[in-house]
Amino acid sequence: MTKNLKDPKAPSGPTKVGQFIVHIDRDLCIGAGTCVALALKAFALDEQGKAVILDSADKETEDMLLEAARSCPTAAIILKKESGEKIFPQ
Ligand code: SF4
Repeated sequence: MTKNLKDPKAPSGPTKVGQFIVHIDRDLCIGAGTCVALALKAFALDEQGKAVILDSADKETEDMLLEAARSCPTAAIILKKESGEKIFPQ
């Protein structure tokens, strides 16, 4: 399996990262890797070419996580607050 995952039971989330709950919709993810390039500590691609959330994700700033989510060509990265309020996509 890919590097150190934040939650091995749910490699693509939903997983708490900082103040966000991060979830990658694996059906939408096309493995474009934009998120990995922008937030190397938070995301990696697994052997299926789908983005997963790394153990080191907390080292990325919330701004960078948001930037990565905004940059995903298929809007596969879903960010929520712990309250359930959606941050992205809106
Ligand atoms: S940018 Fe989006 S499509 Fe590309 S790997 Fe990340 S989640 Fe998947």
